[in-house]
Amino acid sequence: MKTYEAQNVDYEVVIGLEVHAQLLTQSKMFCGCSADYAAASPNTHVCPICGGMPGVLPAINAYAVEATVMTALALGAQIPDFARFDRKNYPYPDLMKGYQISQYDHPLSLKGWLSIIVDGQEKFIGIRRVHLEEDTAKLVHGPGYSLVDMNRAGVPLMEIVSEPDIRSAEEARLYLVKLRQILIYLGVNTGNMEEGALRCDANISVRPVGHTELGVKTEVKNMNSFRAVKLALEYEAQRQIKLARAGTPILQETRGWVDAEGRTVSQRTKEYADDYRYFPEPDLPPLLLTREWVEQIRAKLPELPDAKLDRFLREYNLSLADAEVLTSERNMANWFEAAVLATRSLGPSPKSGFQVEPKAVANFVSGELFRLMKANDQTLDQVKVTPAGLAALLQMVAEGKISVSVAKPVFEEMNTTGKSAPEIVAAKGLTQISDADHLQEVADQVIANHSQAVADYRAGKEAALKFLVGQVMRATKGQGNPGVINTVLRERLKA
Ligand code: ADP
Ligand code: MG
Ligand code: ZN
Repeated sequence: MKTYEAQNVDYEVVIGLEVHAQLLTQSKMFCGCSADYAAASPNTHVCPICGGMPGVLPAINAYAVEATVMTALALGAQIPDFARFDRKNYPYPDLMKGYQISQYDHPLSLKGWLSIIVDGQEKFIGIRRVHLEEDTAKLVHGPGYSLVDMNRAGVPLMEIVSEPDIRSAEEARLYLVKLRQILIYLGVNTGNMEEGALRCDANISVRPVGHTELGVKTEVKNMNSFRAVKLALEYEAQRQIKLARAGTPILQETRGWVDAEGRTVSQRTKEYADDYRYFPEPDLPPLLLTREWVEQIRAKLPELPDAKLDRFLREYNLSLADAEVLTSERNMANWFEAAVLATRSLGPSPKSGFQVEPKAVANFVSGELFRLMKANDQTLDQVKVTPAGLAALLQMVAEGKISVSVAKPVFEEMNTTGKSAPEIVAAKGLTQISDADHLQEVADQVIANHSQAVADYRAGKEAALKFLVGQVMRATKGQGNPGVINTVLRERLKA
């Protein structure tokens, strides 16, 4: 293509992601060292096997294989009858053995998919493979020296490789958010990108719209948040399109994202795959994956985010936005559902016959609970209110014992003190005032003090009534029954 033509061509962005996820196992991939090294002093989780001593023999961590197959099944991938480990050879100071045990042409799974919602439309991103390997040690660089910490060496690492089906930085972000959500639902990964438990390398190229061959790609590394992934890919797409328009060839290379500068910089030109001299790991047996074993693992799959979302929409009549927030994390979804079940077991209020709606539970969870967790920097485990505790609180609202506006501070106090709703309401005398005679007195006072609002209401301004209701509420410290206040005020204003 000639340059003057290229200048006016529209380009399409093509992205494929390679995601590395540390598996939440007790021990490392091929030895008995603890894989939980986050709080450990350097080089305390190390033995001759993960330290790369000659003459030692690795043994496969069975749970890591199971977790990988479980993830693959959750991603709709196929599990072959036969898989094996291969040696990937390259010299680097963080690679204790001089090779990494990984998988090459017989991975644990092939051909999966994951769906994202782009502009309201469901889009399927192909997954090429999910395989298992081991993490490398960590280098710590100081002025004029480098140190090596072997605690991370040999930690089980799952790699999830997508097809080049992603078409924008935003789609890449959505893919990662969804993948992370699934991994957390499965309990196989912490999802912590800042700590490097979940890492993403992005392959990106551009091509004129309508072309089907892939362009030359670069591989972008060093992004440790969703935000960084999005910014890095936006930057890299623009850089490549600019080069393509100018007719300058794009080099196949690895580039690093420099967050502080908001750009990618060249790190090294890409080595060829055969530089790794892959060959089957002679010290490990091949894996024969029987259908029976695969089905046993499939049976252990929890309900996944999409299925849970659909079910919440169906069973609890929630808005899409509510259902999305409530299923974004599995433990939050469980908490919400436990609260709904608790309200159901309380049955309809004997006085009003009113049953607490799942919608009311959803409002409290996505409103009050989220707000408090954020304000107090609390995780769900640290929240003192139990699902049954919230159910009891909402039941008091349903029975007319307290108003919704009182329920909110009571909920907050339940979270601080761990006390129950009835205890707090009784101790503070917060019971809702539905006594019409008492409310009438207060209403008369309010009417006497707000002649302007009264005149406005009489002149037909409905909003003035709202104001007056608010004043009565205030005078009763939020304890007045809003329904009764409304009726009483309307009556007194007629007079
Ligand atoms: P490599 O051997 O360089 O790792 P692979 O073909 O194994 O490359 O692909 C690695 C990742 O890069 C996959 O996620 C794949 O979808 C993606 N990919 C491959 N070619 C391209 C390309 N031209 N543009 C964008 N992504 C690509
Ligand atoms: Mg690669
Ligand atoms: Zn070890």
